[in-house]
Amino acid sequence: MLKIESRLAQIGSIEEPVTGAVSFPIYQSTAFRHPKLGQSTGFDYARTKSPTRKVLEDAIAQLESGDAGFACSSGMAALQTIFAYFSQGDHLIVSLDLYGGTYRLLERIMSRFGVTATYVDTNDLDALEGAYQSNTKGLVIETPTNPLMMITDLELVCTWARKKGIVSIVDNTLLTPYLQRPIELGADIVIHSATKYLGGHNDVLAGLIVTKGKELSEQMAILHNSIGAVLGPQDSWLLMRGMKTLALRMERHEQNATAIANFLLQHKLISDVYYPALESHPGYAIQNKQSSGNTGIFSFKVKDARLVEPILRHIELIAFAESLGGVESLMTYPAVQTHADIPLEIREQIGVDDRLLRFSVGIEHIDDLIADLSNALDAAHAELEGASQS
Ligand SMILES: *Cc1c(COP(=O)(O)O)cnc(C)c1O
Repeated sequence: MLKIESRLAQIGSIEEPVTGAVSFPIYQSTAFRHPKLGQSTGFDYARTKSPTRKVLEDAIAQLESGDAGFACSSGMAALQTIFAYFSQGDHLIVSLDLYGGTYRLLERIMSRFGVTATYVDTNDLDALEGAYQSNTKGLVIETPTNPLMMITDLELVCTWARKKGIVSIVDNTLLTPYLQRPIELGADIVIHSATKYLGGHNDVLAGLIVTKGKELSEQMAILHNSIGAVLGPQDSWLLMRGMKTLALRMERHEQNATAIANFLLQHKLISDVYYPALESHPGYAIQNKQSSGNTGIFSFKVKDARLVEPILRHIELIAFAESLGGVESLMTYPAVQTHADIPLEIREQIGVDDRLLRFSVGIEHIDDLIADLSNALDAAHAELEGASQS
């Protein structure tokens, strides 16, 4: 098999049979002619299957070492489609430091349909055993988590789930199949907010699901078609266009993020840096074992919460914006933005407090990024000093 860099660069470029187009065409059609009664080209109606989307779906299934891929209109649409696999009375065990939108979907919507969830540190086998109930049917893992970058040993925990007979679902948004392939480590389902690194340019909203095994793949196809939160042909094309450069982008993201994390580690205004590429990170060894590199986002804490507002005001090259994984650097404030829907006591338990900032490091030149951050920190510090003297 070709190396992953080659497979990424070649997505869609060898499959268009009519013209030989190197970039796979956008088939903007919802209906497809039947050659004869009882015959089909393989495409009937675009919600069920659509040519441009299918190239993307086959590509992600192959990249993640799964059996089937499903493209959805957003990461949340993908999660909703997966959660619809469960039934009233089913229970899920879920990573504690969870993407805020996933928490909201479980607590505000799935709970009304009788699907309940318990939140634990998914790297703690005792905690998993403690949370396990006779009606537990699924395990939902993020690794690294966002924003605190907690790491779960996927092989260990997916083996535990398999023994219990429960479906393991891994949100692989932060690492992408270029760096980590959960199905190879024992997961049953992988989900992506492809809006982030896979798309990579802050310009397309999309979600992807990959399933392993015949039964799960067939069930997911029924759910995907029945729910209908599918990705359109234009966005499918745009996503593939982004994925072609994933390998190059991830390498630069990691390089830049590592350099900035080390810069912040030495900085007098910073108390903590949460990045698994640092040897001081508690998940460093597991991360090294199960993935071939690190993501481009990390979080850090300033020593004084009053620095947050002026830092966000003084960054210029780095944008104060939500989202992550694009070529442009973005910084956000999880406590009031991405994680506002998570109750204060859970947020404080895991450490998402008012001193925490999250940085999605882009692919700009490292010198410009460090200069921008350094200036913002100095300016924020000067404002605070000025305020305390007056
Ligand atoms: C953004 C994100 C989601 C949700 O995806 P959308 O594309 O915004 O709907 C889910 N999980 C993680 C880890 C994310 O970062």
